[in-house]
Amino acid sequence: MAAWVKGFDYRGKPDDIARYDARTCPPTRASGTALAAAAARSTKTRRCSDCGANLQRTPITPQGEGEDRSLRLCPACLLIMRLRAAQAALAGERENGRHQSVQTCHS
Ligand SMILES: [Zn+2]
Repeated sequence: MAAWVKGFDYRGKPDDIARYDARTCPPTRASGTALAAAAARSTKTRRCSDCGANLQRTPITPQGEGEDRSLRLCPACLLIMRLRAAQAALAGERENGRHQSVQTCHS
């Protein structure tokens, strides 16, 4: 970061804005094709194993009890998976005639 500049945010309110020096991150000489090939060779996968979304951040490995740790999920698919598990648990309780609280879906 090179400097801070006083300016305005998207609401028009005063804000301090960071300015960066482009020379500290020189552009690469690699072509777009070369960068795409390097990304394809990368062993790090950032693709959600459920919906196939390409993620900017590392996919989440479910760590909860009974969850499949081989999955690499985006946050939405992780939440959907946990909602479905909660639904199944509630359905099971209804069939058994019991009414108990269910754990929340938040990690
Ligand atoms: Zn997903």
